[in-house]
Amino acid sequence: MKTPQQIARRKELAIRSKLKKDLIEESGGLCMTCGTTGDFRGLSLSHITALSRGGKTERGNCEILCYPCHEKYEKHPERRA
Ligand SMILES: [Zn+2]
Repeated sequence: MKTPQQIARRKELAIRSKLKKDLIEESGGLCMTCGTTGDFRGLSLSHITALSRGGKTERGNCEILCYPCHEKYEKHPERRA
């Protein structure tokens, strides 16, 4: 038996994975901040408004970042333009 939370989590991950793939294809695999190129494994999907602040996993709230940029914003959200 799966709990509703597990089902929601699984759904969220599936949406995230699909959106990440779409955005990478559209951007040509570029980090939207520093321009580093990468593939699905080398880039991460970043939420502009964090999930913890009510942001959603949707096109307008997500961008593709390399891991160093992602980490920088995780630590310093105020630096996000
Ligand atoms: Zn970057």
